[in-house]
Amino acid sequence: VEWTPDAGWHAARIEPYAPLSIDPAAAVLHYAQEIFEGMKAYRHPDGSVWSFRPEANAARMARSAERLALPVLPEDEFVEYVDALVRADERWVPTSEGANEKSLYLRPFMFASETFLGVRPSQHVTFMVIASPVGSYFKGGVKPVTIWLTEQYSRAGRGGMGAAKTGGNYAASLVAQQEASAHGCDQVVFLDSTEQKYVEELGGMNLYFVHADGRIVTPATGTILEGITRASIITLAEKMGYTVEERKFSIDEWKDGVASGEITEIFACGTAAVVTPVGELRWDGGSLPSAPVGEVAMELRKQLVDIQYGRADDGHGWMHKIC
Ligand code: PMP
Repeated sequence: VEWTPDAGWHAARIEPYAPLSIDPAAAVLHYAQEIFEGMKAYRHPDGSVWSFRPEANAARMARSAERLALPVLPEDEFVEYVDALVRADERWVPTSEGANEKSLYLRPFMFASETFLGVRPSQHVTFMVIASPVGSYFKGGVKPVTIWLTEQYSRAGRGGMGAAKTGGNYAASLVAQQEASAHGCDQVVFLDSTEQKYVEELGGMNLYFVHADGRIVTPATGTILEGITRASIITLAEKMGYTVEERKFSIDEWKDGVASGEITEIFACGTAAVVTPVGELRWDGGSLPSAPVGEVAMELRKQLVDIQYGRADDGHGWMHKIC
C-alpha cells in the first residue's frame, strides 16, 4: 500500500514474495524513517485461523508513526491488509502440535520511500506485510534466559524513540546484544539513560518481578516498548489475584529483592517467546543467581498460549477471526 499527501493510502495489492527494487536515494536508507510490528496468526483445532489483538498492533503502529513523522494507517485498514495477506494463502498457517507451538509470524512495516536526499518527512511512504511460518521460540522446552546488564549502552532517552517500534532502536541495541553474547548471555537488559539506575526492558521483551507478598512489578512506560503481551499478562495476572504495579523499578531493587528472597520470580514476555523465566543476571564484575520459582510465569504462559491456540475460552475479546 502506498501513501502520498495528495492520494492518501492507495494502490493496495497482494504480490508474490520477491526482492524489492529500491532507489539508492530512498529516504529510509539514509535517515531510517521506518517502523514495524510483530504479530502472529494461529490455527485453532477446528481449522479456523485467528490473530491476537491486531487492533493493539495497529494502535502501536499509529503511535510509532506519529513519533517518526509517518502517516497513520487507520486501524481497520491495518487489520484488513494483514487479514488479506493471511487469507491469500492460509495454508501457510501451521497447525500447533502440543508444546511445540507453530504459528505464522506477521511483519507489517512502513518506510519512507521518497527519493530525496534531504532531512524532512518523506512525501512517499510504503506499507507492506510479509509472513513466515515459525516454530516454538524454545527448542526442547521453555528454559530460563540469562541476562547481561549493560552499563555502557542505553536503548532510549527522554524525548527519544524508546516507545516506538522503529529499526533505529534495534540498530542501537545490536552492539549491546553482541556484548551480552560475548559474556555467554541470551539477552541484554537496558537501564534508563538519565540515571543508569532504573530497569527498562530486554532487547526484545518486557520484564516482571514477582514478590512474595503477591505483588508483581513491571517497569513503567514512557521509554520502553509497550508490549501487547505485556498488557495481556497484566490483565491475566490481575484476574489471578495479583496486584500489578507499573512503576520505576531500580536495578538495586532487583539485586536486593533476589538476595533477600522478597522477589520469588522474574520473567519476561513478548510475542515470540510468549513468557519466559529469567535466569542468572550478569554484569561486569558480578552476577546474581536467578530467583528460584517459575510457577507464575509458567501458569501465565499456559493461559495465554491456550487462548491464542483456541484451547481456552477467550474471555477478553482478544482473538480476531481471519478465516
Ligand atoms: N520490547 C521490545 C524492545 C521488543 O522488541 C518487543 C517485541 N515486539 C517487546 C518489548 C514485546 O512486545 P510484544 O509483546 O508486543 O511482542
